[in-house]
Amino acid sequence: MSAKQPTNMDATPARQGSKASPAKKPALTLLLAAPRGFCAGVDRAIRIVELAIERYGTPIYVRHEIVHNRSVVDRLEKLGAVFIEELDEAPEGARVIFSAHGVPKSVAREAARRQLFYLDATCPLVSKVHGEAERHHRAGRTIILVGHARHPEVIGTMGQLPDGAVVLVETIADAEKLKPPENSALAYITQTTLSVEDTVDIVAVLRRRFPSIAGPHKDDICYATTNRQEAIKTVAPHADLVLVIGSANSSNAQRLVEVARKAGASNARLIENAGAIDWNAVASARIVGLSAGASAPELLVDEVIDAFRERFELTVEETIVTREDVEFKLPRALVTG
Ligand code: SF4
Repeated sequence: MSAKQPTNMDATPARQGSKASPAKKPALTLLLAAPRGFCAGVDRAIRIVELAIERYGTPIYVRHEIVHNRSVVDRLEKLGAVFIEELDEAPEGARVIFSAHGVPKSVAREAARRQLFYLDATCPLVSKVHGEAERHHRAGRTIILVGHARHPEVIGTMGQLPDGAVVLVETIADAEKLKPPENSALAYITQTTLSVEDTVDIVAVLRRRFPSIAGPHKDDICYATTNRQEAIKTVAPHADLVLVIGSANSSNAQRLVEVARKAGASNARLIENAGAIDWNAVASARIVGLSAGASAPELLVDEVIDAFRERFELTVEETIVTREDVEFKLPRALVTG
């Protein structure tokens, strides 16, 4: 964007014996995208673990990372949460929480069979998609799920129905070559954390090939995913570099990086935290865009801003595309006396 590269080498070294004057820092503008970071579903899931620990003591077992963020998981582990991947890792009599991504029905059945006490932290917007899948199944439709294989939300959604009832489509090519059972009525649902633009294209193929397919008005991508993508799209074209705070297994954060690139960022990267910033990549930038996936706490954003402030004469500008006031109720077991 600018011919001159800002670098700390611009400072003139202080002469020996003279009073050292502070090195002049290069100027940099940080464009903060808003909304960013925690969504209502993540907030609720974390609160469920905290309240369960307060109410029942430790250990509290959590099946799968409660949300896909390392710092959140580390903090909850320190409070006494024990993260497991499968229910059989929880001992008899354990108290278990299911993660925000949702679980197959077989998991809740197994917990009930073993008489484990469990709380479901599945985001209500994921549960809504589960409900849609069940409704279509009852109506005799074959369900096409647009999503990413192996993501826990997809595993949980497919696991709401018997094997074969849900067919996964990941790409436009999958949608083009899909061969549903003959004479079967069809419906589609989507993962909540997809790229809005990519999903529009996949759904367009499904609607063209199967004009009577049932489905949501557009898709099932949640408000938080949509808003964070809108915000990064606004910031990205003005930035030399876009940084998205989030863990590598966060679908939401990964999509933000892709959306930033598509929106014109010449360079967009996912960083776990301030310690992961590649300052060599920053050196050639004058304007840096910053966002955070829905499972990344604002504390990590603050730490990144502080790290920039240490190295640059920093101007911080925030672009707010919308304000969010969504809140989800907590399970009754945790809020009643
Ligand atoms: S990203 Fe969306 S679906 Fe996922 S927890 Fe947040 S609000 Fe719920």
